[in-house]
Amino acid sequence: MLPPRRHRIDHDDGARPSKVDPGSTDRWTGTVAGVPEGDTVHLTAKRLRAALAGQVLVRGELRHPRLVGHDLAGRTVLDVASVGKHLFTRFDDGASLHSHLRMDGEWHLYRPGMRWQRPGHQARAVLETGERVAVEFALHDMELLPTAEEDRLVGHLGPDLLDPAWGPEHAAEALRRFTARGASELGLVLLEQRVMAGVGNLYRAEVCFLLGCSPWTLVRDLPDPAAAVTLARDLLLRNADRPQQSTTGELARGRQHWVYERTGQRCRRCGARVRSGEQGDGVYARFVYWCPRCQPGPGPTPDAAPARW
Ligand SMILES: [Zn+2]
Repeated sequence: MLPPRRHRIDHDDGARPSKVDPGSTDRWTGTVAGVPEGDTVHLTAKRLRAALAGQVLVRGELRHPRLVGHDLAGRTVLDVASVGKHLFTRFDDGASLHSHLRMDGEWHLYRPGMRWQRPGHQARAVLETGERVAVEFALHDMELLPTAEEDRLVGHLGPDLLDPAWGPEHAAEALRRFTARGASELGLVLLEQRVMAGVGNLYRAEVCFLLGCSPWTLVRDLPDPAAAVTLARDLLLRNADRPQQSTTGELARGRQHWVYERTGQRCRRCGARVRSGEQGDGVYARFVYWCPRCQPGPGPTPDAAPARW
């Protein structure tokens, strides 16, 4: 059973189809759409970088309500970078276009003249070079700011799990921030971008499963907190350069996840029914999936929404 629709719209609960890539047979067009977790944004940045970096924009329309009237034509794209779930398109005049995909944002790449896969009125930015057209659809957050000020938007984030420069110091800092939240529930802390950046609802459910702990386990009760950081990074890395988001190692549709979006189905490991329910309060509530047998530990609090299975 899928979560109620309001969750899919209001919250980053990831209740969407797996990443799809209709353009995979054409290296110059396509969409990186799906569960917008760190790996999706990373792959989007990579595709946009390949298409736009070093190119002069012949068209640069911003249609976001906050940015209408800005014209980016004539600027050269220097780079496209991702930081956690944030995306920056950097230009040669010292400006960056920031975007955040939230739940339903997408970047598409087309050749000039190709028919867009979503209605034009949903487009929020159109960046065209001589050979490519990059179109952003349905983005809620967009800002044009000096590149030197990007930290204003992402400086608060924990280490980016897909940072190309990731090293032991990043792992140590992520672990420090993670264990500092010892009194909080594992499933909620994994979603906190201030702790480590890149995990969304899909990977938090799968990390909890692979740790063998219920999402309501307190961080301080984890036998090996460092394993949570390592697992989160490994899962994101595994999928960073491909459209699928597999945590099981299998790429076939319906076999990619251990518990995520598998409510009521048999656990792949023990055969128990996978359960799902809300974790967190109010606007921060997210749907979580778990196997009650493989993931012992605390369950939903009595006043939380009833768990489903
Ligand atoms: Zn199980």
